[in-house]
Amino acid sequence: MATLKAVRGTRDLLPPETELWNRIEATARKVFARYHFGEIRTPIFEDTGLFARSVGEETDIVSKEMYTWEDRARAQSEKSQSLTLRPENTAGVVRAYIEHKLGESGLLQKLYYIGPQFRRERPQKGRYRQFWQIGAEVIGPPSAGSESPLRDAEVLEMLATLLDELHIEGWTLELNSVGSSADRARYNDVLRAALIPVAPRICADCQRRAVTNPLRVLDCKVHEDQAIIDSLPKITDSLDQESKDHFAAVTAALDAAGVAYKLNPRLVRGLDYYTRTTFEFTHGGLGAQNALLGGGRYDGLSEAIGGPKAPGIGFAMGLDRLVLTLQSTEPDQKAAAPRGVDAYIAPLGEKLNAAALVLARELRRAGLSVELGDGSFRLRKSFEAADKVARRIVILGEDELQSGILTVKDFASGVQTKVPRAKLAAMLAK
Ligand code: ATP
Ligand code: MG
Repeated sequence: MATLKAVRGTRDLLPPETELWNRIEATARKVFARYHFGEIRTPIFEDTGLFARSVGEETDIVSKEMYTWEDRARAQSEKSQSLTLRPENTAGVVRAYIEHKLGESGLLQKLYYIGPQFRRERPQKGRYRQFWQIGAEVIGPPSAGSESPLRDAEVLEMLATLLDELHIEGWTLELNSVGSSADRARYNDVLRAALIPVAPRICADCQRRAVTNPLRVLDCKVHEDQAIIDSLPKITDSLDQESKDHFAAVTAALDAAGVAYKLNPRLVRGLDYYTRTTFEFTHGGLGAQNALLGGGRYDGLSEAIGGPKAPGIGFAMGLDRLVLTLQSTEPDQKAAAPRGVDAYIAPLGEKLNAAALVLARELRRAGLSVELGDGSFRLRKSFEAADKVARRIVILGEDELQSGILTVKDFASGVQTKVPRAKLAAMLAK
């Protein structure tokens, strides 16, 4: 029988690498708490219609990357339903905001999530079919100040702080405004007209986009198209006064806070729901997949999926890409902290296995990390096993059990000592 493997584009995360994942997640949770965000966990799958209506029918995500299936009805009272593994989490968060009437509190809702997302993309370094995102959303009724440019600036400042605390160096914040939906409609017309004369020279995907969704041409990755795209009219020239003022207030607040950014008029992002501020944090160490995170404002999203007016702004960072970046800049991150275990307990003979379990229980309850050997091991084998994982070995023989005096060997110093059981935990903690 052929051996089964993890599905293409998915992977197992193993220790010690998972320690790095946990550390990143813990840092994110700590920083989010300081900015008064609470955690939200939404289901991994949702009604397909949610993504079609929020992310947008014409986007790559919805048109070709979603894992969608028809879920059969189990009973007469149920209908079969088209379901989709979430390709992103903002749609689910906004759906939950509407479903639980979170806006009725009159307060801003500040929610973060950490979890897997699914897209059927071509797998490559930094691009997987199951990948992880850490994201956050600030959403609420306009009366709660959810439209304020200060919210945009605060989210961007938080991200700069988070990346600094993660020790990710050399990131760039790229910033743009895609304006209101009216601005975008106007710009789409300008762009459609400008694309007609160049259409024969652009890639097949862009030729299609030029008709269906011209804005999408701007995030084309095909090398040959770049010079042509750079010569197209800029979205910033199609913004109305309100959008211009909003953007100016965001950049002024960032300047005041000392958060550096680079204006990128081509940054329109791959999801249809964005309005006004859009941004990405990029990093040179990632190669082609250079975006660490992306986000923006989505003032019309709640209404697009049947909810009340609830402007918001959010972002999603690629956890897989954060890990890759840290591994490339700090190579020792890749290795485990060797000898992470405080003590290895070696029972001398199978009769001592139960007593060894009791001793391990004592030490673990005292907060120590303990690896438990086995009485069937020869002493030499115990030493070899212990030396690979632990800082010290504790020998538990019949004599030690009776006298309550244990033999401890420290591998770093090579020193062997006798320690009374009552003092063992304190000694091992040193
Ligand atoms: P890209 O341009 O790299 O495809 P995107 O614009 O599709 O990114 P978003 O949908 O905004 O990305 O998702 C936010 C972040 O999630 C990205 O910046 C990236 O770090 C991460 N991400 C997106 N797709 C993948 C993937 N297939 N594998 C790993 N990480 C991903
Ligand atoms: Mg993408």
